[in-house]
Amino acid sequence: MDYGKLQALAAECGFNNFGELDAAKLEFLPEVREMCAADKCHMYNHSWACPPACGTLGEMRERAAKYTRGILVQTVAQLEDSFDFEGMTDAAARHKEAFETLRGKLAGLYPEMFPMGAGGCAICPECTYPDAPCRFPDRAVASMEACGLVVSRVCSDNGVKYNHGKDTLAYTAAFLLE
Ligand code: SF4
Repeated sequence: MDYGKLQALAAECGFNNFGELDAAKLEFLPEVREMCAADKCHMYNHSWACPPACGTLGEMRERAAKYTRGILVQTVAQLEDSFDFEGMTDAAARHKEAFETLRGKLAGLYPEMFPMGAGGCAICPECTYPDAPCRFPDRAVASMEACGLVVSRVCSDNGVKYNHGKDTLAYTAAFLLE
């Protein structure tokens, strides 16, 4: 894995912060799943890409165990203040777009990769869950939290800044590659 090339590719796709990801440092935690089950985001049991449909923690651990490393990518936005909802929405949209572009490019290089995004799957205006199979199983991606990861911890464990200062917002995604 050539991290420099991956970083350049991620920058081309629109991300503005990066870091190498050590698969051995990932901890898939039941506490995170409990937070999902509290359903504050109203996605629990509403999407193929969210718990419980996205897979058990055991399945996540088993899947991650096939990799040693990958890349962490971030969209870091400077907001006007903590009420800058337009800035937050814009950053979320930029992150989704950059993620989808990078996912497409990496799929050609690492067809067996394990991508983990930020937020729920928003590919379809309405998810088919649970009445019909996922429309795009090759594109639907669970978030890092849905996988059971504490994003701030993954960042600090891998030397990637999570808090970028006053009135900033960082969306983070991960790709396990090899
Ligand atoms: S791709 Fe569509 S059907 Fe599949 S999880 Fe995402 S929103 Fe749901």
